[in-house]
Amino acid sequence: MEATLKRSIRRLDPGTASRIAAGEVIDRPLSALKEVLENALDAGARAIEVRVDGTLDRRFSVSDDGAGIDPEELELALERHATSKLVALEDLDRLATLGFRGEALPSIAAVSRLRITTRPPGAESASFIAAEAGAVRERGNSGRAPGTTVEVADLFFNTPARRKFLSSATGELRAALRMMEAYALAFPEVALRMVVDGRERFEWPAVRDLSDPVAAARERAAALWGASFAGQLLTAQGERDGIRVVALLGLPEHARATRDGQVILVNRRWVQSPLLGQALRQAYGNLLPGARYPSATLWLSVPSDRLDVNVHPTKREVRFATEDSVFSLVAASCAKPLATVEPPFTVVRGGGPEPQWADRVREGSEHQTRLGLELVPGRGDAAARALEGSATGTGAAATPAADESAREPELWQLHRMYILAPVRGGLIIVDQHAAHERILYEEARTRLAAEQGASQQLLFPALVDLSRDQYELLAELTPWLRQLGWEVAPLGPPTVVVQGIPDQLKHERPGQLLQDMLDGMGESGGGDVGADIVERLARSYACHAATRAGDVLTQTEMRTLVNRLFGTSRPHGDPHGRVTFVRLDLEELHKRFGRG
Ligand code: ADP
Ligand code: MG
Repeated sequence: MEATLKRSIRRLDPGTASRIAAGEVIDRPLSALKEVLENALDAGARAIEVRVDGTLDRRFSVSDDGAGIDPEELELALERHATSKLVALEDLDRLATLGFRGEALPSIAAVSRLRITTRPPGAESASFIAAEAGAVRERGNSGRAPGTTVEVADLFFNTPARRKFLSSATGELRAALRMMEAYALAFPEVALRMVVDGRERFEWPAVRDLSDPVAAARERAAALWGASFAGQLLTAQGERDGIRVVALLGLPEHARATRDGQVILVNRRWVQSPLLGQALRQAYGNLLPGARYPSATLWLSVPSDRLDVNVHPTKREVRFATEDSVFSLVAASCAKPLATVEPPFTVVRGGGPEPQWADRVREGSEHQTRLGLELVPGRGDAAARALEGSATGTGAAATPAADESAREPELWQLHRMYILAPVRGGLIIVDQHAAHERILYEEARTRLAAEQGASQQLLFPALVDLSRDQYELLAELTPWLRQLGWEVAPLGPPTVVVQGIPDQLKHERPGQLLQDMLDGMGESGGGDVGADIVERLARSYACHAATRAGDVLTQTEMRTLVNRLFGTSRPHGDPHGRVTFVRLDLEELHKRFGRG
């Protein structure tokens, strides 16, 4: 403490200072790609190609056919706060470019090996500059058609601490594909192509006719997601006080467990906006259950003097001068086309048939962990008997199996969330969702480790339209999914057919379950990013396939669930470390009631 207080103030050396500053702008490999792509768009490119070697942090390049950089200005482009897009602060109010701070290239240069090759349309030849950790290493002439190529290699090679916090490389690449989709939607007039390890991942041609923004949006959407999926999207449009909104809205069944299906574009910027996310959600009203996010793309155009884009280092957030009116415009415009849509399923379960999953669940395991938690046998009022036994001074609760005809004790479901089970010496309260999650998780781990899981054929195979990132992920996961007992076959992107699901699993909407599981694997799905792929799959499967709070359980289902929970290796917690049950001892009850 003392020592810290006494330290004197010193200026950081420029290298350290710029690496710290770089960390704010380039917080992950995706941000580097985003900045370089934005520069190409700002340069007026008509065609952009992104190439990735291995992973984003190993090497990527972005080539454009835009305005290029004059050779005399190449060094300047690598200097902090050097920009061709903004002269004075007032310009921010009429900003038409994505960049404005002159921070991206120097920030990337500070933490990578960077090379820029560029040729303005009028120039005789191209020139290049190469930098490493921010210092210029090489300059010269080279050959190139008009335009610019920016290559970024070995990102974060000189900031090992940052490297450690990087999310998985494949996750980052999927996020990159999602980002490319977002910019493709924001700039339909630009042709985009992406190549990963020599393999073309997509090529989206430029949309020629931009006279009708909705038609242009639909054309781009069809290129991105396939004509059949794009054809199902609803259109919304609205305008008020100079603010305009266009939206393509997914049907309720396209909704997802995360926000990954949402693209929000404000003045052609790809942003995150809780405000607009909520406006969208409000528009869907009770077409969706609470925990689901609509899939939708929003194009918002706001007079630039009423929009603050300078809120966040990565420019992913914006602030509106009039939040209320933006919210109501978006919510009202999007609600209109949705008014005619029928809900795909009832949101609140209202006395319909009870869920049957537990009928398919194996009855009690031979290897049950006992933990002194055997259910107390009784005649339907086990708790009362347990108390009696104790009250009359026998100490422990009712004698097990004293009565030949003793049935299993009755269990109670509390608020459709908890199972109350009398046990020797007290009561356990089981969280039905967490318990089922633990059971499914262990089953999944076993199947993924060795044992090929059996599957049950669906009577009616389910057709599912996946998003691009879900589709990519599915392709990656296919062997493991098969191991779990899933039978999924591709039917041409973005559609797949679910033919079989793991045996013993009862699920009304297998397609939805598949999508939720895929979403749950991603960064935003909550799963621990550091966990390996098998672990994440097991967790996501368990989380989404498990019975929910709110599901009504029968006696048999409750009993099976409790028995199976204590057949697992770690019945005390679910895979996320949350408690699955709590125990209430009679001793404690006695104390509370003053029985000493
Ligand atoms: P900003 O985009 O905020 O101006 P950057 O650091 O991203 O800052 O880029 C610095 C400058 O380099 C830009 O202002 C632009 O003049 C030039 N530049 C960067 N990339 C390109 C490109 N692909 N084509 C043409 N000029 C570019
Ligand atoms: Mg820029």
